Amino acid sequence: MSSSTTITTIDLKGALPKVASGKVRDLYTIDESTLLFVASDRISAYDVIMDNGIPGKGALLTAMSKYWFQYLSSQIPGLQTHFIASGLPPTLETQLGPDVAAPLRIRSMQVRRLQVYPIESIVRGYITGSGWAEYKKSQTVNGIPLPAGLIEGQKLATPLWTPSTKAELGDKDENISPAAAAKIVGQDVADEIERQSLQIYSAAAKRAEEVGIVLADTKFEFGLDKETGKVVLIDEVLTPDSSRFWPKETWEENLGRAQPSFDKQFLRDWLTENKLKGKEGVVVPEDVVKRTAEKYQEAYEKITGQKW
Ligand code: ATP
Ligand code: MG
Repeated sequence: MSSSTTITTIDLKGALPKVASGKVRDLYTIDESTLLFVASDRISAYDVIMDNGIPGKGALLTAMSKYWFQYLSSQIPGLQTHFIASGLPPTLETQLGPDVAAPLRIRSMQVRRLQVYPIESIVRGYITGSGWAEYKKSQTVNGIPLPAGLIEGQKLATPLWTPSTKAELGDKDENISPAAAAKIVGQDVADEIERQSLQIYSAAAKRAEEVGIVLADTKFEFGLDKETGKVVLIDEVLTPDSSRFWPKETWEENLGRAQPSFDKQFLRDWLTENKLKGKEGVVVPEDVVKRTAEKYQEAYEKITGQKW
């Protein structure tokens, strides 16, 4: 990943109107029903964006999401996703010229513009992170009671749907019960999001397992297609930014403690050790950047079976 440049600010030279800017992505209007979804190299941890980025990360997340959209569509009949195509629309390519277009093309996909449901749809197959923290206190995860005696990193008897709120930029998402999620989006939509999320998690966890990766947990987002009334999978999918990937090989020996992982756990640990968790204006040192990039690349290569 280190061969490419680091782009933390996306600049389309005013060619398309910007709709929104998230922690990692910038969204632009292509037309009434289509958005350009551009992933920068920005990295966030504990809901704060670091000052510097991870070289090539945006391109990698885009390629990985594309892989999963295509894989999941081939595995799950009837699954609808927002993915249309990767790269820039031809008119934009011409307008920007090859030099400006080249670094943007690899970070972009064209997607259906949908009405985003304001919840994050998290599925946990294993107990860790904020789920483990809650379990230790109350033997529940998102208010869902679990059996006594679970240990950190243990596989759950069945994957759990543990939604969270979708906070505005700068705020923190909060875990909520499935009932609270239903209050936000309506019971029917909540049921449909839960059903699809568990189905997608199962298909993805199976694929990951085949290549020696445990998909501990992951976060999806969904949107409404107002024309058809269908609930559609949107955003990025099953990347190291949105998921915890653990090496299967070392999972068992690490039960009861933090698992080594292919995601930003490395950055999170560095922040915690240096008492920088949640602080603004952090510059990540070169070696942490490099090792994070390597982890992302390893996850990409294992999952897609392609060299990065
Ligand atoms: P947020 O900015 O929402 O707090 P984030 O930092 O994760 O979250 P990014 O991943 O940087 O955001 O940006 C992606 C944004 O685009 C998210 O807010 C997501 O809900 C939104 N989004 C994803 N897919 C679509 C779509 N098809 N139509 C409209 N918005 C979308
Ligand atoms: Mg996001």
